[in-house]
Amino acid sequence: MKPLGPIPEGYAAIEGVLAVDGRKVTELVEEAGGTPLFVYAGGLVRRRIASLRAALPECVALHYAVKANPFSPLLTLMDGLVDGFDIASGGELAIVRDAGIDPGRVSFAGPGKRDSELEAAIAAGVTLNLESENEASRALAIADGLGVAPRLAIRVNPDFDLKGSGMKMGGGAKPFGIDAERVPALARRLVEAGAEWRGFHIFAGSQALDADAIAETQAQTLALAARLTRESGVPLPRCNLGGGFGIPYFPGDTPLDLGMVGARLGEAMDALPPELAETAFCVELGRYLVGEAGVYLARIVDRKVSHGEVFLVTDGGLHHQLAASGNFGTVVRRNYPSAIATRFGAGPEEAATIVGCLCTPLDRLADKGGFPQADVGDLVAVFCAGAYGASASPAAFLGQGPAREMLV
Ligand SMILES: *Cc1c(COP(=O)(O)O)cnc(C)c1O
Repeated sequence: MKPLGPIPEGYAAIEGVLAVDGRKVTELVEEAGGTPLFVYAGGLVRRRIASLRAALPECVALHYAVKANPFSPLLTLMDGLVDGFDIASGGELAIVRDAGIDPGRVSFAGPGKRDSELEAAIAAGVTLNLESENEASRALAIADGLGVAPRLAIRVNPDFDLKGSGMKMGGGAKPFGIDAERVPALARRLVEAGAEWRGFHIFAGSQALDADAIAETQAQTLALAARLTRESGVPLPRCNLGGGFGIPYFPGDTPLDLGMVGARLGEAMDALPPELAETAFCVELGRYLVGEAGVYLARIVDRKVSHGEVFLVTDGGLHHQLAASGNFGTVVRRNYPSAIATRFGAGPEEAATIVGCLCTPLDRLADKGGFPQADVGDLVAVFCAGAYGASASPAAFLGQGPAREMLV
């Protein structure tokens, strides 16, 4: 048997069936009209945000990185819980606007913004996190044409990265942000051009479980923001400190020590350099807010034995849960947390490999995990499915189409 990742807190069994926010998944599947289905637990999202608010210094605002999960009812829930939204495309701009979110609370990062996306964002009053000098010139020209002062921030490519992070997004040559040494001149240029100056966005990495590494990166981020402010001679109204708070996906992963992250950030806020005395701060988090609140449910449609190994074949697969299959930014495939949802809480009886319905050997949701004996008709649950699931998987592959999604 191979180990499975840790099942997040907040899930229970009712009469042997996995329950989400107190409701059996068998009922939720029926209500949704079938499987495959993503269920997002609003209660768990609220609880997570409450614990963040309690841990982080009050002066640090909380933003949601929409790309983690852009499901519209979830965004509507988030609208009442977070202080801002970070988007990474014109498509996400349309999604947040459809969800009724005030564009004045939205910032837009990401390389390769098209002129049409810049125009839509500027016209709506979205803050642009500029990724290059070229993008700055295009934004200023478009704003000129519209006759408005654009809200512009600079995404800084820091000269450090977030240690232990799953995805490094800063340090060295990167397509993201503007190299730190070129930032002061650009900040001056934006202010002189009459833009509404919105400060820096400094994002150094993602999916870190080490509180010490996060605290160290935040300290470096503050020092960099202070230095660039001094060098630019332009006051810094805002600074987005990035995020990178990770969640445990794999065997042996342990949860982030949020108390320590909050305490260390609090100390840093109490000892800010003079350049940052008037600056407003935020962190931007995706998976930490929603990842553990989501479960992917698929139904077993076949059970077979090949060369002595048990295969549970489901109606879902990597076309909805690419990350759980090990094909979204992982080097070595390890098992996500998963369970037989209709035998939830029962001990392991056999080693079984849970696969999807795609005709590719990549389509594995769990590899030789220890599960209670399951058969055709049982439901399989893959946890940590609230972020980078439905919207980060190739739903059109093999003509399968998207999964159902519901917020409870
Ligand atoms: C992807 C991304 C995030 C969200 O990352 P998580 O690991 O989901 O928290 C935040 N900010 C930027 C700039 C990103 O690219």
